[in-house]
Amino acid sequence: MSSRSVGKVYLVGAGPGDPGLLTLRGKYLLERAEVVVYDYLANKKLLRHVPESAELIYVGKKGGGLHAYTQEGINNLLVESGKAGKMVVRLKGGDPFIFGRGAEEIEELVAAGIPFEVVPGVTSATAAATYAGIPITHRQYTASVAFITGHEDPAKKKSNIHWDKLATGAGTIVIFMGIKNLPIITNKLIENGRDPKTPVAVVRWASTPEQHSVEGTLETITDVVREAGIKPPALIIVGEVVKLRNTIDWYEKRPLFGKKIVVTRTREQASELVALLEEHGADCLEYSTIHIEPVEDYRILDRELENIGACQWLIFTSINAVTYFFKHLHAQGRDARSLAGSKVAVVGKATGEELLKCGIKADLVPEKFTGEGLAEALINVGVTGNRIVIPRAMAARDVLPDILKEAGAEVVIAPVYQNVPPRGRKEQLREELEEKNVDMVTFTSSSTVTNFLTMVDAASADELHQLLNNVQIASIGPITSKTIMDSGLTVDVQPERYTIADMVNAIVDHYRNSTKSA
Ligand code: SAH
Repeated sequence: MSSRSVGKVYLVGAGPGDPGLLTLRGKYLLERAEVVVYDYLANKKLLRHVPESAELIYVGKKGGGLHAYTQEGINNLLVESGKAGKMVVRLKGGDPFIFGRGAEEIEELVAAGIPFEVVPGVTSATAAATYAGIPITHRQYTASVAFITGHEDPAKKKSNIHWDKLATGAGTIVIFMGIKNLPIITNKLIENGRDPKTPVAVVRWASTPEQHSVEGTLETITDVVREAGIKPPALIIVGEVVKLRNTIDWYEKRPLFGKKIVVTRTREQASELVALLEEHGADCLEYSTIHIEPVEDYRILDRELENIGACQWLIFTSINAVTYFFKHLHAQGRDARSLAGSKVAVVGKATGEELLKCGIKADLVPEKFTGEGLAEALINVGVTGNRIVIPRAMAARDVLPDILKEAGAEVVIAPVYQNVPPRGRKEQLREELEEKNVDMVTFTSSSTVTNFLTMVDAASADELHQLLNNVQIASIGPITSKTIMDSGLTVDVQPERYTIADMVNAIVDHYRNSTKSA
């Protein structure tokens, strides 16, 4: 797209907040953007889709503090980037043409002769209602909806809003930017004939982990909002349909809603845990405490591969071991067939699934997914006199090799990857802990624990306890738990089966039970 002399500007609706509500067209364009111009209401998580080489320009009016860009400044920026031949995505909260000044930006582009396209987005009006359990229309209650801006001072003489017609003319009324004027708006509606008992909901930061919704009537909502401390951005929904919230409310009811959970997996593997926690409503703070890299020296593995026929068992104790083993095998110009003469064992289900992706079905998966469980299962099969090769992390526990050696096997440990602490983000983690923004920290291996402690960098045990005071700790299994307890911390959640899915279920149960007893 960059070969054109004049670029193109895509005005893209970012949706209301939930990054899953971006359109496929929006995602497609973000993935190809050279410049992304985004503002306050567009979720920063959407920037994940943008190539690293793209230029990101924040023009938000809030959050950043500075009013770096006026509307005119934004218009100029779009025109200039277009003239420079760039593929520009202008990302705007909700739908760009609903109270978003999208048309003003397009008018400037037209005047400057810059090609453009507009991609609609899910407006916060429908998303806020839906995520607060309110259908904005319903056969029994209303056949019409009005979207209005509450930003205009309703007291001004010549209002663009016909309150007299609106108050009773539309079944459901959705008001944008109306928090400041809420008392005036509700009065206008009552004065013009709407029943003061009409139900009203106010939803702040809809479809995000910060969503906060409250309910009242035209008479009471101003007080309710003040008491709840609700500030913009929020939407006001007026009408009988608000009653349905009692039945339909779902988003804020999810078991982990509002919980901030630190995920300390490796960058490469965080996605499954994060996806499952988010599915239950959690707000995940992702910290990669480990970064996985290949080892520098593959000589031990190479030697074994040369004579792989002499090896009876090949053992994989982690997904990473499978990944890095096969990467190296393939780099050598070999493939799964060269392992045909050996049997293969894995520590658990997930490792077995990863192995299957590489074309090999494990001959042995223990019932208990630990090194000890695996050793026991192997000894039951009989390993005396066998040559066993274990491709694994450079630093790892020696329990499995030790038990196997004791049982008379010849064990070769072949390092294929290493865990290194990642750079950056350290300060951010400390800040979240200091500000008590964290409800829970999850650990999925002993190295996530040690690396987390390195990142937190507490000066003393007291300081560590201070930082983690009231923070729940979830551990995937007994080995990880032991490392946690050895550091003087307490484990609050540990599943019976040591998988990510079981860990997430245990976390959900933990919070269900604690709300019951609270
Ligand atoms: N184009 C946007 C609206 C922009 S006007 C859209 O279609 O949604 C800005 C106003 O939108 C805010 O003041 C607030 O009233 C509303 N708004 C936008 N995102 C919101 C959200 N996530 N939760 C609640 N209100 C939101």
